[in-house]
Amino acid sequence: MKFEFKPSAVVLFALFAALYALRLGWREGVWAAVVLLGSILVHELGHVFALRRHGIEIKAIGITHLGGFTRRASSDNWFAEVQSALAGPAASLLLYFIFRSHSGEFFTTMATANAVIGLSNLIPIGPTDGRRLLRILLPA
Ligand SMILES: [Zn+2]
Repeated sequence: MKFEFKPSAVVLFALFAALYALRLGWREGVWAAVVLLGSILVHELGHVFALRRHGIEIKAIGITHLGGFTRRASSDNWFAEVQSALAGPAASLLLYFIFRSHSGEFFTTMATANAVIGLSNLIPIGPTDGRRLLRILLPA
């Protein structure tokens, strides 16, 4: 499995850093951007974990300016696909609870960000896990 940090991910990093700097100050804003990119990778590793359990080959995970991605072999195992689509948001929600168990504005902000990553990915619009789930569960 390869890790791909696309050059365009710098845009996402700068956006996160600027956004969180407004709330937390520059130093913590940059740390928030680092933690958020790490959180996106944990989300993708959730997908990887579920897919590997079913023996589905993972080619790469990575980050672009649009967020994370997992490139994998195709599969017609609908159960593996459902588990994989749910595992990413579940990993984000796990991070939510981990950050939430710490006090302070930085951890609260990171908890909220991971809740947003996890829950917004379940909305079936665009290239989200929710859209993938809908496609699996409601075949055309
Ligand atoms: Zn996902």
